[in-house]
Parts: sequence; structure tokens; C-alpha cells
Amino acid sequence: MWVLWTVLGLLGAFLVITLVRAAFWTPKKNTYAPLDDEKVDVEKYRKDLSDAIKIKTISNVDVDQVDWSAFQKLHDLFRERFPLVHEKLKCEEISLASLLFTWEGTKPELEPIALLGHQDVVPVAEGTENDWTHPAFDGVDDGEYIWGRGALDMKNHLIAVLESVETLLSEGFQPERTVYLCFGHDEEIVAAKTSGAGAIADTLKARGVHLDSVLDEGGAVLDLKVGSILNKKLAGVGIAEKGYADYRVSLSAKGGHSSQPPAHTALGEMADVIKDIEGHQFKATMPAFVYDLFTKIGKNTSYPARIVACNLWLLKPLITAVMKKIPPAASLIRTTTAVTMAEGSPAANVLPQKASVTVNFRMMPGVTIKNVEEHIRTVSRNKEIEIEYLKGKEASKVSPTDSRSFKILEEICNRTDSDMIVAPYLVMGGTDAYHYEEVCDCIYRFAPFVMDTKLLLTTHGTDERIPVSCMADALKFFKRYIKMMSAE
Ligand SMILES: [Zn+2]
Repeated sequence: MWVLWTVLGLLGAFLVITLVRAAFWTPKKNTYAPLDDEKVDVEKYRKDLSDAIKIKTISNVDVDQVDWSAFQKLHDLFRERFPLVHEKLKCEEISLASLLFTWEGTKPELEPIALLGHQDVVPVAEGTENDWTHPAFDGVDDGEYIWGRGALDMKNHLIAVLESVETLLSEGFQPERTVYLCFGHDEEIVAAKTSGAGAIADTLKARGVHLDSVLDEGGAVLDLKVGSILNKKLAGVGIAEKGYADYRVSLSAKGGHSSQPPAHTALGEMADVIKDIEGHQFKATMPAFVYDLFTKIGKNTSYPARIVACNLWLLKPLITAVMKKIPPAASLIRTTTAVTMAEGSPAANVLPQKASVTVNFRMMPGVTIKNVEEHIRTVSRNKEIEIEYLKGKEASKVSPTDSRSFKILEEICNRTDSDMIVAPYLVMGGTDAYHYEEVCDCIYRFAPFVMDTKLLLTTHGTDERIPVSCMADALKFFKRYIKMMSAE
């Protein structure tokens, strides 16, 4: 009996500790002094962004389908609006229409920094042109928003970087570290080694450059409002991106006329394979940075909700189990599997000689394209399957959160707004930053534009637009980022 009482006693004590811990656990007070104000010209930025949106720099897998004159027009706009950038920085055209600007630092022995951006945008989906409130390539500025393709992805970011460098030059600022501005031209088509960003990274590598840090697009600053539980801004800094792999899984059969079918056609057999693949998902594990993300958000919630966050170490298995049931949450903690296409015979009265399905996987860092193939082979009970790799890219490396550059990013956010939570996160799609792994270990994907998720979801969709209200802070961020990050 004493054993039971001891166990119960310990459990009771444990419960009290976890509750008390939560009650007294508040986020670390940030003790930074606020930053000096930065002069920014929002009016000029609005005009420049609106004019940049009017230039249809749409990329295409088929380079012959690209209107290259649009990219030249964009470069002309850059030259006209950012004269100091073109006077003081070395500007090189790399690959087909990518740009590499070099702003020499006063201390060349220090590792340089790079700010990335892509000039291209996705087209408007056919048939949806009239759904837009303002045409996608008119760059309408109605005083509240600037509308159009590229307003969020990512002419907003690109123009803000140029605007900030131009202003810093006009103020006589000189960086200690060399600053590179790397503007690719084809981020929106599946990233290949032949891409503009790849070519810029190769150029840097050939010149023996190793970068201190890279800043690229990805995420935003989200306004988190959850009733009385949470009211903060979340600056998500992407420290890794998931991999991508398409596999075709096939089964062969005799075929013949459908009037004399076997019990299961090749497509019928395939159904079992699909069930095996969907039924045996990759194992979900919460990576350290996802844990860190939750802890940071959780510490900022009000008391009862904080119990979960402060005892995450204890509740991790439970949270993982719940997350697995919610697709957007599940995608943060495991390699996802989606069976997306199926093929059988070419006619309704013909038995298929081959049946196949295409499966799309998004891999967690650490899971390779090869691992996916092994996984399919293991989980399928039918060992007759043929597995064909179609295309993909490996997951990125995970950038550290204890680096000089991450800490500076965090410091700028905290000193700008003491209510901002800065936390690492996992980027679901691909970015140009991926190409810089060979020349940099500290790659961060972050856009300093404050907005809500509803607006963020217009990216690549109808009514893509950026609120004017977030612009001044974003311009200040880039000035501060360049000043602080380029210092020794
Ligand atoms: Zn983008």
C-alpha cells in the first residue's frame, strides 16, 4: 500500500510543481534599449513598388516563353530610382537576368553578408483575372493597400532592400562587412541547379566568398490575437525548408479485354498499395526548433493556457499526437505523403497493362530522397511494385539559432517592438536561399512585414496586396539590419 501512496504523493507534488511553474513563468523581460529612429521615405517606396508591380516579370520553365524585356525594364526602373546604388555598388548581370550588387566593406577581412530577393512573379491563374478587385499588374495604390502580383512575393521585399541601401548611401553610411544584394530571376519555377540564385551562389563560391549570413524571403510578422490568451506579434524566422520528392509507383499486369476481367485489375491491386502508403505515414517527431517555437509562443500566453507551454517537455507526446491529426500542424513535425495522380488503361473497356500513382512527399530536414524510396518499398506489402523517382530536392540544412546573425535579427525585432516574439520555424516551400548552403551556414528566411494570415494567404492568389501600414517599419528594419549585421 505504501508504494501506491508514495506514487500518488509524488504525482500530487509533481502536479503542484507544474501548476506553480506555469503561474510564475513569464517570458524573459527584454532589457534592450529601443533603437534610434530611422529616416524612411514611405511615399517613394509606394511609388517604386507600384511601378515595379506594373512590370510583368513572369518566370517560366521554358525560357523561350519568358518575356526577357520585362526583366530589362525592371533593371531600368532600378537604375532610375536607385541612382546611388548603381553609382556606389558594383552591379553584375548573372545568368539570364539575375543581378549581383557588391557593396564593398571597409574591413574586407570580415565575412560578407547577403540580402536575397527574386525579381520574378507567378502568373495569374487563367480564368481568375476578373476576380481581382484591381487588375493584377496595375500596381494600384488605394492609400490602404498596394494591389498586385508581387506585392507580397516579393517585390515588396526586393524594393525595400534597394530603398534602404539607397537611403543609407545618401546618409553616408559605409558597411564594415561587404554587403551583397543577390536578386535571382526564376525563384518561382522549380528550383534547379541552373537557376539564377544557383548561378549567383556559384559565382560567389568561385570567388572564394564565404558568407556570414543570408537573409531571404519566407514568412512575415504575424499579428497573433487569440482572445485574451495571446496578443503578440510573431516574427517567424525560417531556419530550414522541407525537401520535395515525386515518386511514381506502378504495377504491371497482363491486360486484355474488360469483358473477361480478373478479380482485381492492376488498378485494383494498386488500391492496396495506396492504402499501405497512406496507412504507414512517416514517424512524427517534434524537432528542437518546433519545440522552441511552441515554447516561445506558449510563454507569452495568459495563465491557464501557459500550463501547456511551461510543461511542454511533459506533454510533448500528447501534443505530437494531437498535431498529427491536424494537417497544417502535422506538416511541421513529419514528412508528409500525398497520393496525387493515378493512371490506368487508356480506355474504359481495356484492362490496364500498367497502373500507376504519383506520390508527393515533403521531407523533414534529415529525411532524404533516397529514404523516401526505401520507405515506399518497406510499407508496401506488394513487392512487385516498380518505384520511379520523378523529381525533387533534398531538405535544407538547419541553420543555427545561437549564431551572431540570428541573435542580431532577434535583437532588432525586440528593440523595435518589445511585444514581438521571435521564433524559428520550418518553411514548407522552396526559396532561393537553398542555393547558398555551400557558401553560408547561417541562412534565415524572414520578411519584416507585419500582417494577418488572411492577407498572407493572398500570396500567389487573387487580390495579392500589401498594407501601407506595415511599410515604414519594414523599411526601418532593413536599414537597421544592414547597419547592425554589417558591423564587426
Ligand atoms: Zn517568393
